[in-house]
Amino acid sequence: MSYYQKQPNDVSHLGLNCPECGIAITTLPFKPRRGMKIYCHDCAQKRKTPTTG
Ligand SMILES: [Zn+2]
Repeated sequence: MSYYQKQPNDVSHLGLNCPECGIAITTLPFKPRRGMKIYCHDCAQKRKTPTTG
């Protein structure tokens, strides 16, 4: 139990697109939930940065 690796989930079969920039999303570091807004890596990072409002 000393080896840890995050395996991205292949979600290309879901045909997801980032609602922010519209890029096709093929892999995610987590399992997407139904009805959940899925952003691409770049947009997810942008949204993580704390902003007022
Ligand atoms: Zn995006």
